[in-house]
Amino acid sequence: MSQDWPVIFRASDMAEADIVVNWLAEHGIEAAVKDRFAAGTFEVSQIVAPYGIEVCTMNPTQTDDAKAALAEFLKNREMQANAKSTEPVFAECEECGKSSTYPGDVRGRVENCKHCDAYIDVPE
Ligand SMILES: [Zn+2]
Repeated sequence: MSQDWPVIFRASDMAEADIVVNWLAEHGIEAAVKDRFAAGTFEVSQIVAPYGIEVCTMNPTQTDDAKAALAEFLKNREMQANAKSTEPVFAECEECGKSSTYPGDVRGRVENCKHCDAYIDVPE
């Protein structure tokens, strides 16, 4: 029976699928992760989903609304990603314990501590 629900989104993992379902719920759309019960038998990290985790709407009349909400969701997420990448980021040195500020475009990279020159992992 759940097989008949229209798939409106394919998430890359269960966490993303949950975010999408919550977002849709906030917009008054009844959505669910299609493979929720099948996936529930595995650890989240073990889920192999070559085609993505399918998010469906349980109410087919809401399909268009769901797609509009999803377009907004993707736009917001893109804007957040862009905003994040330019914002300066703090990193704490494990060697000397001091914090340094790095430009957003080195997020996730290894830089040198500005105080003691040790390698420092800049957070994402
Ligand atoms: Zn240091």
